[in-house]
Amino acid sequence: MHKKLVKKLVIYYLLSLILLCSSFAFVFFTNQHPELPLLVFIFFGCVVGMAILFLNIGIGHFVYHDSKSRGMNCVLWTLAAIFVPYLIGIIIYLVVRTPILIICPACGAVSPHMASFCAKCGHPLQSRCTQCHASLRDTDIFCPNCGARVNPVADHQ
Ligand SMILES: [Zn+2]
Ligand SMILES: [Zn+2]
Repeated sequence: MHKKLVKKLVIYYLLSLILLCSSFAFVFFTNQHPELPLLVFIFFGCVVGMAILFLNIGIGHFVYHDSKSRGMNCVLWTLAAIFVPYLIGIIIYLVVRTPILIICPACGAVSPHMASFCAKCGHPLQSRCTQCHASLRDTDIFCPNCGARVNPVADHQ
């Protein structure tokens, strides 16, 4: 999983680098005068380009994983966030993104982030403390709210 992600990032990085290099080559060949101001311009262009590149990697990385965990089209939203100019893509994404979804282990239906039971079959989606009814994570052995020992048998009620 982690290896796959690194591979994806490397491919994206190389693609952006090729794009960046080709655009600078274009600028260089259209300005055939090897003067100092041009070199300064290219240097600053490179710095700005690299900054934008790293910013895009960060945004792309965030949107890809965030949209995936929300059951949205992760490829489409990542491309929109990166390629729509002036951060409009990422702003639209942040506005329209759906809440994190829970997939029912019994029937596979998706429910909103805060749901305690599946809307389709009634299967409990979050285990709760038998003492104080605080919601528990799967890994909890003791209730983080009241300290009672978690009894997995008592979850189905
Ligand atoms: Zn269900
Ligand atoms: Zn408790």
